[in-house]
Order: sequence, then C-alpha cells, then structure tokens
Amino acid sequence: MALKKLVAGNWKMHGLSSDLAEISTIAEAARAYPSVDVALCVPAILIERAARAVPGFAIGGQDVHQEAKGAHTGCTSAQMLLDAGAALTIVGHSERRDAQRESDAEVQAKAEAALGCGLNVILCVGESLEIREGGKAVDTVLAQLDGSIPPQPPEEAELAIAYEPIWAIGTGKIPTADEIAEMHAAIRGRLVERYIAPGSGVRILYGGSVKASNAGEIFSIPDVDGALVGGASLRADDFMPIVAAAAAVEA
Ligand code: PEP
Repeated sequence: MALKKLVAGNWKMHGLSSDLAEISTIAEAARAYPSVDVALCVPAILIERAARAVPGFAIGGQDVHQEAKGAHTGCTSAQMLLDAGAALTIVGHSERRDAQRESDAEVQAKAEAALGCGLNVILCVGESLEIREGGKAVDTVLAQLDGSIPPQPPEEAELAIAYEPIWAIGTGKIPTADEIAEMHAAIRGRLVERYIAPGSGVRILYGGSVKASNAGEIFSIPDVDGALVGGASLRADDFMPIVAAAAAVEA
C-alpha cells in the first residue's frame, strides 16, 4: 500500500522572527503539491508566530515533555505546543537522545503524551556508525523502536517513524539504497507485528543528509514514505525541490 508522502523540515536551533518570511514562502510553495504532506518543525519560541503566519500549514515542535504541567524548568508540554498552534512534534531525535540522555522509555512517554492530546508525532530512531559497521544496525534500531513506540496503535493522532542513521545527519553521507530498503522493511515488519493492520499505515520517513540531488532516489525505495530534512529545510530553494521529488514519485 503506497502511503501519502510526508516531507517534514527540522529547523533545529535555527530561526528568528526574520525567518518567518521563509516559512511563509515554503508554506505558499507547498500548496502546489497537494499529493504531499509538508510540515516544518521550528524552535518552540517561533511556533505561535509561524502558525499564525501560515494558517492551514503544519507547524510542529521538535520535542515535548511527557507531563502535562509541573516543575520542569525550560520544558514544553504537549498542551502548550497545541495551544501555540502546533499540529505535530518530533520526539526522540538522536541529538536529544545523545545530549539530553533521553532513554527509549522517556521517548515513549513523550510520544504517548503528544498523541494523547491530538498532536501528530514523528518518532526518530537510528544507529551510530560504530553499530552500523559492527553489523548490528537492524537489531539496534528495532530494539529502539520496541522501546520507544506506544504499546497500542495510536487512535487520537498520527504516529510516523523517522529512520535517521546518526552518522548520516548533517554529514552529507547517506546509506546505500539497499541499506535504507533493508531498514525500512525491518521497521515495517516490526510495526505490523506490534500493531497488526494499523502497522501498515504508519509512515516511515528517512532522515539524514536528504537534499534535492538524492531525494528522488530515496523516495523511490519501498517503504520510504517521506523524509525528515534538517539543513536543507531552512531555505525554500533547497527544501521545495525535495517536496517536488516526493510529488514526482507519487505521480
Ligand atoms: C535531522 O537532524 O533530522 C536531519 C535529517 O538533518 P540533515 O538533513 O541536516 O542531515
């Protein structure tokens, strides 16, 4: 079953009010590609202004706290993201798993909190170069997936998985098409095992150095249902050709 492709940008810690115009440019350009879902996950402080600037376009957060409220200095709850106008959030990005020492259990709690209040979730998994070179990439990613996804298929909102090999993020290196195909097939298999029929409807995105020049090939790999894009999502000139490549594969 071919799923509608989702191309989501992760702006990480980039973006000031002067960049709202770029968000508007991307949202406007995305209207030409109704066969692709397009989203931008921006810094928390920009969400409200971005959502107001581009009504109807999906603006997301990059992380969420698992509690609804409380003594968690510097954190943002799912309700707060929703209240600011977000439609989705990333959870479990490798930069947070690494720098903030987020465990699978924490990522799972964050995903459940977000989905439970109606926010769509992009949940990231991915292996280090050492693990890939040691031949343990698939086992490691499936273990991460097992520990991070909600026990039951979500009903309140959409869960998508982003396979992001850590060594491909921001490096210009990407796995071979066969390696991506193998990993996405393994993730699909595990989702169907865990969620039965709904497992085949979960979109599996690839992330890691996606750009205009490689997007077409990546999107044509079976079970690649879109992309999570970092650096190349900051400028419409770089991002929109990736969206166009997703639309071309859909056509
Ligand atoms: C990311 O960090 O989610 C990412 C995919 O980054 P980049 O596209 O820059 O490799």
